[in-house]
Amino acid sequence: MEPGSPEDWQLRQLRDNHSPMRRAGWVTLVYVLTGVVWIVLSDRLIGSLVANVELLVLLQTWKGVLFFLVTGLVLFYVIYRQLNHDRALLSLQYEQRRALRFRERQLTVLMNNLPGMAYRCHPDEHWTMSFVSAGCADLTGYQSDELVNNRSVSFASLIDEASQPEIALAVEKAVDRDGAFSVEYALTRKDGERIWVWERGCSVEDESGVRFVEGIILDISDRKALEQELEVLATRDSLTGLLNRRESARVLAEEQARASRYRRPLALLWADIDHFKRINDTWGHAAGDQVLCAVSDLLRDSVRSVDTVGRFGGEEFIVILPEMGAEEAREVAERLREQVGRQVVTLPGGETVSLTISIGVAAFPDHGQTQEELCAAADKAMYRAKKQGRNCAVMAQAS
Ligand code: GH3
Ligand code: MG
Ligand code: MG
Repeated sequence: MEPGSPEDWQLRQLRDNHSPMRRAGWVTLVYVLTGVVWIVLSDRLIGSLVANVELLVLLQTWKGVLFFLVTGLVLFYVIYRQLNHDRALLSLQYEQRRALRFRERQLTVLMNNLPGMAYRCHPDEHWTMSFVSAGCADLTGYQSDELVNNRSVSFASLIDEASQPEIALAVEKAVDRDGAFSVEYALTRKDGERIWVWERGCSVEDESGVRFVEGIILDISDRKALEQELEVLATRDSLTGLLNRRESARVLAEEQARASRYRRPLALLWADIDHFKRINDTWGHAAGDQVLCAVSDLLRDSVRSVDTVGRFGGEEFIVILPEMGAEEAREVAERLREQVGRQVVTLPGGETVSLTISIGVAAFPDHGQTQEELCAAADKAMYRAKKQGRNCAVMAQAS
């Protein structure tokens, strides 16, 4: 109900009115006093004006009839006004109930047709649900009554452990400043399937001052899968699955900045397949692709988990080696070169291809202070390896 609306005014009047007992008492008192005053004054007036006894009796009778008629009219007016007032209130009550029922129906339809689930929960460590909409079954696999009051399972236990602190922080902030929050996280459904959801909620306080969190949770697994697919497309090389040039450069910049900030060593290997053109020319482009994939797999499987292997160009790869000095990097380069040299790639037709690689080795900060200088130093060293007859690892020259 809008403040200031006619209904609001009527309700306020009803609240502000004196108690029925007091009001009835006042009306009766006025009636009795008026009656007494009327009887005393009119009797005196008639007594002083009329001397004839018969006329006096007649006038007394008509005075009684007049009093009876006037009070009857007043009574009629008062009861009529009261009944009208009651009827207005009853009809207001009826209209309000109807509007409430309509709004409830609308809300239920809306909630049941939400693409996810609406909820109301206590902001405790279990996210104890006090209400969940019918969409709960589709979203989580649990029926509403299994989740409400943690009867079978708590909502918090469905959420990925790693996301819990982030969600708790977002909700805490929202509760503190009476605002809203949005979070994305993964949760495990009853059937074990892991889905991604987006949640938007806000902190509310009920009439008794108890805090709740209310909001909606939507399934965004499709969007998330698309996002991940796009991320792979944007950062990975489609043929080998290694990081592409842009992503490799980004990782190198990040590692170089970290090494520079904390004064830690960092090494870079620049590898290029020797006479790769010949492989293409002899066995065909598809065979060349297969060789590229084999070399990529070997490089990726031969380095530490903290190292990064990227495809920088056609048959050129870089290996980023954090926390590694020049000498150790040269040893790694030697090992990789030997492994590639030993590797034999068997083509679909049964033919076998052997190959070698040339590697340039550069270390931060000896061979370059920036990402560009480091790349240039490693690339130059690789060209010197080519000049020295290929199938070797050459250290960059100090800058
Ligand atoms: P070098 O020992 O001097 O490096 O000789 P190279 O033949 O390896 O050098 P070059 O740069 O002349 O040749 C690289 C070749 O790699 C040329 C190109 O056709 C081929 N190449 C580049 N990308 C791909 C690819 O994705 N698939 C295949 N099959 N070949 C590729
Ligand atoms: Mg080459
Ligand atoms: Mg090349």
